[in-house]
Amino acid sequence: MINLIGLTREEIAHELEINTAIDIPQRQLRMRANQLWHWIYVRGGRNFDGMTTIAKEVRSALEPAFSLGRPEIVTQQISNDGTRKWLLRLASSVPGRPGPEVEAVYIPEETRGTLCVSSQVGCTLTCSFCHTGTQRLVRNLSPGEIVAQLLVAKDALEEWPDPASKQTRLITNVVLMGMGEPLYNFDNVKQAIHTMSDDAGLSISKRRITLSTSGVVPMIERCGNEIGSMLAISLHAVNDEIRNQLVPINKKYPLSQLLDACKNYPGVSNSRRITFEYVMLKGINDSLADAKELVRLLKGIPAKINLIPFNPWPGSPYECSDWETIENFAEVVYKAGYASPVRTPRGRDIMAACGQLKSASMKLSVNQRRALEKASANS
Ligand code: SAH
Ligand code: SF4
Repeated sequence: MINLIGLTREEIAHELEINTAIDIPQRQLRMRANQLWHWIYVRGGRNFDGMTTIAKEVRSALEPAFSLGRPEIVTQQISNDGTRKWLLRLASSVPGRPGPEVEAVYIPEETRGTLCVSSQVGCTLTCSFCHTGTQRLVRNLSPGEIVAQLLVAKDALEEWPDPASKQTRLITNVVLMGMGEPLYNFDNVKQAIHTMSDDAGLSISKRRITLSTSGVVPMIERCGNEIGSMLAISLHAVNDEIRNQLVPINKKYPLSQLLDACKNYPGVSNSRRITFEYVMLKGINDSLADAKELVRLLKGIPAKINLIPFNPWPGSPYECSDWETIENFAEVVYKAGYASPVRTPRGRDIMAACGQLKSASMKLSVNQRRALEKASANS
């Protein structure tokens, strides 16, 4: 059975055309594909029977041929701050073996709700502070598997519009900051982002979709031209020596090349800034000199800076910087004109934070917890 989720309209029309059990005249293919698109992405349809604008005999022919199946929800955890984390089992590509698992996280805030999705199972890169980096790459996610994370979240939050009510949106933003390196799964990520941003469907504006990369320099320009989402760069260090240790892809594409690609990112402007993520690691990258160098390096690039308190995991070789150090670092960044630089930790109690996905985490020390609570209160 062919799953229609994640297919383009053209691909849906093609599937309808080649299926001999469904007799749709050539001139109606495009219209039927559009109707299906509407039911799948606007109404959240999960079976064909309920698609009342489609002729009954067509519906009953679709039912045995196609599916709208989502990945299986293995667990759903809800944090005391409202953050939700889903562990999802994808379809298996090896007969007899259970499918691989990925996670998606929903983070509600006062003015927006952000869904963090995965683009690969595991990662080929080996950033030394990231738990995903210790897991080998199992496989790329298909466009459908990326989009389905949004559908599952909308199902669980009951966000599908009831045509009778004018409901506000819960998921306003999507970030590709879960497992995997999105620019190493370029074509599938591109198709998924086009589907998520389609005006006649899920309609999450590309300005509200952020792709985070560790710095796959040759793909950055294509990302701007062909995907057109917002961009986040996992910078984490201000010189090649430290960045080589933290983000080993830096050995291939060093800082100077990465920053050049950012300066030339298609569409970058003061209203479309690049986010630079910077994980705070005690004694590694958190000095005042580092903060000043960070500000100097980013001069001339329309940028936001996101300082991320390090999330420890079992066996991780680093510690999170002390709160005072983070505060002093943030002060330098703030004085240079960057607003609210520290990312509020969310969903800690269910281990929903960056780099903790699909891992059992170490408990935070009392001091770390206090520091983080203070960080949340202050930001
Ligand atoms: N592979 C992409 C996107 C996924 S990681 C990338 O590296 O950008 C999303 C963000 O979480 C990245 O900035 C990553 O560096 C950060 N991250 C990973 N592990 C972390 C950890 N243990 N603590 C804090 N941030 C972490
Ligand atoms: Fe992969 Fe990103 Fe983790 Fe690096 S930080 S190992 S690129 S998921």
